[in-house]
Amino acid sequence: MYIRDIFKKKNFVFSFEIFPPKPTSSINTIYKTLEALSDLRPDYISVTYGAGGGSNYNKTKEISSLIKNKYGIEALAHLTCISSTKEDIRRTLEELKEEGIKNILALRGDIPVDEAVRGDFKYASDLAEYIMSIHKFDLGGTCYPEGHYSCKNLEEDVKNLKYKIDAGVTHLTSQLFFDNNLFYNFLDLAAKYNINVPIQAGIMPITNLKQAEKVSGLSGSKVPEKLLNALEKFQDDKDAMADAGIAYATEQIVELMAAGIDGVHLYTMNNPYVARKTHDNIISMIHAINRKPKTRY
Ligand code: FAD
Repeated sequence: MYIRDIFKKKNFVFSFEIFPPKPTSSINTIYKTLEALSDLRPDYISVTYGAGGGSNYNKTKEISSLIKNKYGIEALAHLTCISSTKEDIRRTLEELKEEGIKNILALRGDIPVDEAVRGDFKYASDLAEYIMSIHKFDLGGTCYPEGHYSCKNLEEDVKNLKYKIDAGVTHLTSQLFFDNNLFYNFLDLAAKYNINVPIQAGIMPITNLKQAEKVSGLSGSKVPEKLLNALEKFQDDKDAMADAGIAYATEQIVELMAAGIDGVHLYTMNNPYVARKTHDNIISMIHAINRKPKTRY
């Protein structure tokens, strides 16, 4: 099923993101995570891909195929383009098609320091346009409630989103954020620039202080004092600290649901405990929202 059709059917779409095991680890290490996550029957599961290009796409493809063909859940295969040629992408699309994958998250990826590994594409919108010209996949894209780091300001970044929508992207997933007001502000801007596709909020339950620092460094998302204080308070007790992070994420999601957003994409960090607890906290509310008549899209 195309993910755009899930958005047509449901008021609130709930999905998970996982990442393939490190190149040095066996693919088997993801099986337990997949078993646990698939039990929760999310609307889809997305699988990340390293920006470096090359053979490690096999893991993204293999895990996406398992999600789709073994567990019967829609898979969203991430695909970056900055280091790929058109021929690389064409081959990957053929392979995804053979596995029955119907959904791709069209990404640029971070620009490599080494110019020599640059490929045929400049932006995610170029990839989306190329995919649409040769295959029938449903395409998702990214968005950044605090602005992408390479853009001069948030408004420019939101204006640029239009390129990927015009190229065929039918739904957006946001970078993670910890302050819902940033997301509401972003949604207002998106509406101002006629971005009329469903936008899922990216939420990551932070379960320890080190992770908070790392995530903030990588994503540029500001971690509020309130969350840092809660993590610090429980830093001697691993379980309590994880539950504090899950409670914060739950509160964020409940408020977002009340505000009527299109859905949440949960960055699970391959941690079934975090996914299950968060899921259990909100699943009755998801059902209640989805019982209501569909009003958008
Ligand atoms: P783009 O959408 O191409 O945007 C990049 C920059 O260019 C922005 O500043 C934008 O404003 C500007 N821009 C975009 N289009 C145009 C245009 N046509 N003309 C002028 N300017 C333009 N990285 C990975 O390596 N693997 C993953 O699996 C992965 N998954 C991700 C999932 C999500 C939900 C998110 C939010 C990010 C993910 N990333 C992943 C990170 C992402 O690759 C980086 O943030 C990267 O720097 C930008 O990729 P993009 O597709 O968002 O870029």
